[in-house]
Amino acid sequence: MARKKDNNAAQDAAAKALAAVQAKKSAEKAKVQHNITHVEQQTVGKTELLAVTRKNAMPYRVAAIILWILAIAFEVLAILFFKKVIKWDFALKNPGYYISWIVCIVLDFICVMVGSLLWKKANHLDPASAKNKTKFWLHNNLGVIVAVIAFAPFIIFVLTDKKADKQSKTIATVIAAVLIIAAVLVGIDWNPVSQEQMLEEAGIDTGAVYEHVYWTKGGKVYHLYEDCGHLNNSSDLLEGTSQAAVENGKTRMCQDCYSRGVKEGLIIEENNDDKIETPTDEVVPVE
Ligand SMILES: [Zn+2]
Repeated sequence: MARKKDNNAAQDAAAKALAAVQAKKSAEKAKVQHNITHVEQQTVGKTELLAVTRKNAMPYRVAAIILWILAIAFEVLAILFFKKVIKWDFALKNPGYYISWIVCIVLDFICVMVGSLLWKKANHLDPASAKNKTKFWLHNNLGVIVAVIAFAPFIIFVLTDKKADKQSKTIATVIAAVLIIAAVLVGIDWNPVSQEQMLEEAGIDTGAVYEHVYWTKGGKVYHLYEDCGHLNNSSDLLEGTSQAAVENGKTRMCQDCYSRGVKEGLIIEENNDDKIETPTDEVVPVE
């Protein structure tokens, strides 16, 4: 029996050793080999760079504004259908009456929502200055104001309509109320970027641009470290200076790389409380 027990122990030890080797192997496997393509920096200095970020964001801004105008057009149509101002047979009788204004108010919502998402994307590519707080808030949350404009008049027209029956008034108010709340929530930028923050993290304000940072084509941020965990699933990486990263729409540094950079002394942290108000200074380059 004793011998058998020893045997088992030996087997256990062997199994454990094997497991350890396998774990090591899979850990090595997890360290992804990246195909790195170098990206040349196109601009010199802050002014040139900001011209590029403005250009990057322009198509998104234009599309957002077109969609928001469309949204308001759908709202006007919804009001006209609700008040039976449009004398179209289909829309005068049930269920065509309900369908006509419900479809319009839903299209209104879709246009507001997509417009807001594009507007927020534009603001991340080309952040506004945070020097004036009110202006900064309005710029980042323009979608909220559009949401109110795109639904509140409809609600007011519905509630003050003396001819419409109670049921259609209730249905219209509830739908519009739900959609306005959803549109406001989509319109808020919960994590806005300021121009000062972008310039600071990219090291541009200080002239201390990072020599080698990494990003992916579809990513929103750039990474200080090639072995950052967020890059494990991407085989193809782009590499260049932090200014090149910003030129390519990666206007912020990855949070984890930032924390690691601070920990390893590559980044000297400013007083964090007023990081946005006091941009500039001591960002130390990687190399
Ligand atoms: Zn990272």
